[in-house]
Amino acid sequence: MSNEVHATSPSADELRRRVARGMARARADLERLVGIPSVAFAGFPIEPLEQAAAAVMDMLRAVGLDDVRLLDVPGSPPAVVGERPAPPGAPTVLLYGHYDVQPAGVEADWTSPPFTPVERDGRLYGRGAADDKSGIVMHAAALAALGADARVGVRVLIEGAEETGLGGLEELVGAQPELVAADAVVIADAGNHALGQPTLTTSLRGSLKIMVEVRTLAGPVHSGTYGGPAPDALVALIAMLATLHDAAGNVAVAGLDAAAYEGARYDEPAFRRDAGVLAGVALAGSGVIAEQLACRPAITVIGIDAPPVDGAANAVVARARAAVSVRLAPGQDPDQARSAVVAHLQAAAPWRAVLVFGDAGGGEGFQANTDGPAFAAATRALETAYGRPVSHHGQGGSIPLVAAFHKAAPDAEMILWGAEEPLARIHAPDESVDLAELERGILAEALFLAALPAAGQAGTDSPA
Ligand SMILES: [Zn+2]
Repeated sequence: MSNEVHATSPSADELRRRVARGMARARADLERLVGIPSVAFAGFPIEPLEQAAAAVMDMLRAVGLDDVRLLDVPGSPPAVVGERPAPPGAPTVLLYGHYDVQPAGVEADWTSPPFTPVERDGRLYGRGAADDKSGIVMHAAALAALGADARVGVRVLIEGAEETGLGGLEELVGAQPELVAADAVVIADAGNHALGQPTLTTSLRGSLKIMVEVRTLAGPVHSGTYGGPAPDALVALIAMLATLHDAAGNVAVAGLDAAAYEGARYDEPAFRRDAGVLAGVALAGSGVIAEQLACRPAITVIGIDAPPVDGAANAVVARARAAVSVRLAPGQDPDQARSAVVAHLQAAAPWRAVLVFGDAGGGEGFQANTDGPAFAAATRALETAYGRPVSHHGQGGSIPLVAAFHKAAPDAEMILWGAEEPLARIHAPDESVDLAELERGILAEALFLAALPAAGQAGTDSPA
């Protein structure tokens, strides 16, 4: 297996040793990042974002990248970029990750504080430990392992607002495609379909967030004096939301597409365990789980504004609001999908209630090209790092920037991998990363970067 690497590159065994030696440093970098509550959502302080960006710059400078700097992103925290020009005739690879994280949610739901990195049973716990601070560490540690042996051009782009869906970087990349000019793009914001099972992500769902507010009365009124004929805004909202799925739990909105799926299966016991489905509770919807996740739409009501139960006045509710998250099949146009969901909710509104819609962003899904030399090199690198064959899967999550990269650099092959396997519980309490999985990921990326120049020559770039 190790002879796959180009003759003048370090051997696979040598890289494996270097990555192992670098793990203490990689872990220290990860712990530093996890200790910073870099949430980019509105209402969160800006200082932690600045600290996280500074930490990322330190990491990139430490691995010898030139011109490490902040890149202004309109309406968002800055991205961190750094580069090393390609040797003559060598390909250039873009390494992407993000330093912002999801909010921690309810701290009491965490076993240990969300922004204090703690190891338990080989996993490092903390918000962002996997999503996506592990991805930043993968890039830096892979470059560190290669050191002066790297014979590819490298550009690193670490953004600071991926989780917000604000789309500032997508716009910037659209306006300045040269920012992402590369032969291959490595997005270390994905993961294996099971811990230890090497997997390349070949599709992503799109996403959409819609706010809907229902208004029925000038203000809340006595539920005895007026209750009955007075239209209840919260009941109206609940009735509308209840029509988004059929009785089995399948999405019931006309105009939302499904795509075909050919990737790895996700068996029901594993899914139930990973998702924490309570014993005896049925799964929603019908069909193959992996296909439901990868290629079919999903709708989740992620928040409702209504009077809280404690201290609720005995009154008819005058206005209520919900945030609705929609996941889209790869290939579905987000604007079309938004119109479909809005039209569905309008048609479902009882009593001609007044509806006010708000838009909270979204983005297109993605389908990878799996025929190119970089994809083949990534497959061999994963096989060597893990010592087992590679699977493909579609990921239920969304990375809107991937579609923007694809538009800006249509010939660049997209490699999506990382340490975000199901047990990482990204976006949930007790997020963590498996440190051995992270080490295998770093090795795979180092092997990939070492092999890429030869892979390119074997492909269409060959001078003949
Ligand atoms: Zn992420």
